[in-house]
Amino acid sequence: MKNSDLKRTFFKKGAAALRNLIEIDQECYCCPICKRLYHYDDLDSGELTLEHAPPEQVGGKPLALTCKECNSTAGYSVDFAVVQRQRLIDFTDAVIGQKRNFKGRANFLIGGETLNINFEKEEGRPSIKPVTKINDPRSSRHMKIT
Ligand SMILES: [Zn+2]
Repeated sequence: MKNSDLKRTFFKKGAAALRNLIEIDQECYCCPICKRLYHYDDLDSGELTLEHAPPEQVGGKPLALTCKECNSTAGYSVDFAVVQRQRLIDFTDAVIGQKRNFKGRANFLIGGETLNINFEKEEGRPSIKPVTKINDPRSSRHMKIT
């Protein structure tokens, strides 16, 4: 189903559910986060957006409509945390051998120093390379003299 059709389906279902709860003259959709009411025209203006759960970046499916503002706020806070958590799980699975492919950045804490690395695992073969542009461990500006 196209996203525009899916949005209309969610709007119709939400509007019907709202009519069961309150007496209302117009067909409206209530954003489940901020509780503001939106009209059918708000679908085309982009004020109502598809909310994915979990976030779309980690394979989430559209779950409901939320207003643009709430979707954006969730994107910055909740979605970012969920995506970071999923990246940690994927990294861990790659390191312990449960995932054959992975590509991403990680930080190693070694003796109180942080080393940023690119970790890649392709078909089960891991590769770890320091991110030299950020923190070449041979560079004096990254040495800690105590
Ligand atoms: Zn909202």
